[in-house]
Amino acid sequence: MASGGGVEEVSNKQVILKDYVSGFPKESDMYLNTSGTIKLKVPEGSNAILVKNLYLSCDPYMRPRMRQPIPGNETYVEPFKPGSPIAGYGVAKVLDSGHPNFKKGDLVWGLTGWEEYSLITTTERLFKIHHTDVPLSYYTGLLGMPGMTAYAGFYEICSPKKGEQVFISAASGAVGQLVGQFAKLLGCYVVGSAGSKEKVDLLKNKFGFNEAFNYKEEPDLHAALKRYFPEGIDIYFENVGGKMLDAVLLNMRAHGRIAVCGMISQYNLEHPEGVHNLMTVIGKRVRIEGFMVYEYYPLYPKFLELVLPHIKEGKIIYVEDVAEGLESAPAALIGLFTGRNVGKQVVVVARE
Ligand code: NAP
Repeated sequence: MASGGGVEEVSNKQVILKDYVSGFPKESDMYLNTSGTIKLKVPEGSNAILVKNLYLSCDPYMRPRMRQPIPGNETYVEPFKPGSPIAGYGVAKVLDSGHPNFKKGDLVWGLTGWEEYSLITTTERLFKIHHTDVPLSYYTGLLGMPGMTAYAGFYEICSPKKGEQVFISAASGAVGQLVGQFAKLLGCYVVGSAGSKEKVDLLKNKFGFNEAFNYKEEPDLHAALKRYFPEGIDIYFENVGGKMLDAVLLNMRAHGRIAVCGMISQYNLEHPEGVHNLMTVIGKRVRIEGFMVYEYYPLYPKFLELVLPHIKEGKIIYVEDVAEGLESAPAALIGLFTGRNVGKQVVVVARE
């Protein structure tokens, strides 16, 4: 810790992206820089805020951000810069502020850096945390971006009705576990797919799904879905894409809805797989709609109103997979693409 001109300067560990990534990401695509420092004060006249990062969120969309931009074929998110710290959602404490809406001591969630301290200059998508009688790490998941994704995707895109047949892929993850619980609360029949026995057990015994199956053990996904949905699927919450989407298309009911949230099975492929059964969309009059969570952030207060009482009454539960320390962040992030995470993958940088 040094002090120059009355401003405290401290060391600031950072996770740096080495270079653009192709194929499956590896831990060695990132490294921990331990030689950086940061002044714990916002520059004079700036409206930035200076935060201490507490919890960081590992999210699948960070993989497309590691890809070299191809002109004319940009991904839906801005790429990271090789040699710079990775950015992502997190929970942080404000240490200094040049912004009228934030003051020292505030807790916030939103976009920050994969480092111990960050100077945040874009504060539009930062949310102040008012409810601290729940675990703070929930603001990386249940009460943060993935929670809003589940809420917007299910209630706004799927137009759900009581009694409908709902299928969710990557169902034990940060988004999926919550979609399933929303659907159960509404009185739907809910089935989830996941990649291990442990996850299937979680879905059935902890989150209260009616049924769940391990997609890795199903040689014929079409037949598996037929088994769980003999009458067909009304709502598919799409998290994985690829072969699962093709099998689902064959099992949709008339006027079914597919909320396209993500397609993680495609993120590491240089050439995405094709979708073969799209013609079923015509005869079954299926609505397929993609969405981006940030367009629904104005609904955040409404979301909290719904979800906070459910958490307090134990009607909604949330499973997190917690990695300790910034140095564990690269392994935690790439673990999303092999299904190593059980529940929402969080990295603890500091607890206060
Ligand atoms: P997550 O489920 O917590 O983690 C990813 C999971 O995906 C893994 O644990 C793994 O679970 C599964 N997976 C990995 N590779 C797979 C493959 N090749 N095929 C099938 N499953 C695979 O992640 P999340 O945060 O909840 O995100 C779920 C989806 O929502 C992602 O596609 C993400 O991009 C998307 N998303 C979209 C928005 C939006 O605004 N549209 C916002 C947030 C998230 P298994 O062990 O079950 O395979």
